[in-house]
Amino acid sequence: MNRLLIKNILLDVKKRDILIRDNIIEKIGSHLSPDAERVVEGKGKYAIPGFVNMHTHAAMTIMRGIGEDLSLMDWLHNLIWPTEKRLTSEMVYWGTKLACLEMIKSGTTCFNDQYWYLSEAQKAAEEMGLRSVQPFVILDLLDESRSEKIIEECIEAYEKSDSWPERNTFAIGVHSPYSVSAKMLKWAADFARERNSLVHLHLSETFAENQECIDQHGMTPTQYLDSFGLLAPNVLAAHCLWIDDKDIPLLAKRGVTVIHNINSNLKIASGYKFKYNEFRDAGVRVTLGTDGCASSNNLDMLETMKTSALIQKGWRRDPTAMPLNELLDLATINGATALGIRSGKIEEGYLADISLVDVNNYAFTPNINFLANLVYSANSSCIDTVICDGRVLMERREVQGEEEILKEINRLYRKLI
Ligand SMILES: [Zn+2]
Repeated sequence: MNRLLIKNILLDVKKRDILIRDNIIEKIGSHLSPDAERVVEGKGKYAIPGFVNMHTHAAMTIMRGIGEDLSLMDWLHNLIWPTEKRLTSEMVYWGTKLACLEMIKSGTTCFNDQYWYLSEAQKAAEEMGLRSVQPFVILDLLDESRSEKIIEECIEAYEKSDSWPERNTFAIGVHSPYSVSAKMLKWAADFARERNSLVHLHLSETFAENQECIDQHGMTPTQYLDSFGLLAPNVLAAHCLWIDDKDIPLLAKRGVTVIHNINSNLKIASGYKFKYNEFRDAGVRVTLGTDGCASSNNLDMLETMKTSALIQKGWRRDPTAMPLNELLDLATINGATALGIRSGKIEEGYLADISLVDVNNYAFTPNINFLANLVYSANSSCIDTVICDGRVLMERREVQGEEEILKEINRLYRKLI
């Protein structure tokens, strides 16, 4: 049995000790002194739940900066999909490692991925110690003749996932309603329902894609997916920027989780009027993601939180829009709940996914409001220590293997770009 003790940490403005047994927060109290195998000194630091990045394409860190100032369809068809023809499993392995390194450094302990070479991505996440959802990607570019091969590979990947550690979860990645054939949408819906798998997809990201669906099928993308029985509580829908008002109650009724990715939406110029209040008030669970580094260039959840709140306040001309106390939930507990993981909160009985924030610097001085300083004043360099699944992945900003990851990426990216 493994015991880890975090001593003298500030939690909700009170000095506390946190005792972790294996991967669970066993006790929170004062002056706890069991014979722990490892003690982390928390003096001068605040404990926060690890962030849950609900939408990314982790290995695309290897393409960071590949193409700027492009629209989504130009970016996808003329840059990303041709480049991905040169992608190797080795690139995905090291790209995912780089993503994990960046996420650990910025306080993320769990991510919902969607990319190629699933087994390499999973292996990288496992070695780096992060919690993750790893989908098998379904993207047939509307060509139903590819379905047999995709189905065979998907079932094989699902069976292999039995050997993964518990903190890595298998899912189905349905790229989008505009890139996946009707046959595969139906198959994915049935497969996910029978196996109780999560489904991670892109939904109504751009105006043009949304309109095209209406023109072709006489239905919005939301209604189109629903016609295959694909919308259910296991569905994690990224973007949802152009969801029709009348579809919001349908998403609520089906229990779909919505993932807001503001930096990617702004940069690709897909839009910014995410209907946060409307989703929340209808009872739709809202979460946050960064998207991949080829579009939004980093995986920084603190930056995502800040931009999300600023844009909501700005376009609504309402300073109370996306308030601080809701913002932390969007980046932690909401995502964990959507993924069916007992994480995202620092309470006894929860999984030990915790970041320690160093407040001994100008960004937290004066420290009148810790959460306001964290989101609006600091940047992720304030994250000092990260614990995931009860294991210390970073202490005093040091992550094991960092140098090797940077070296391997610098060797590999030239073969891709
Ligand atoms: Zn995406």
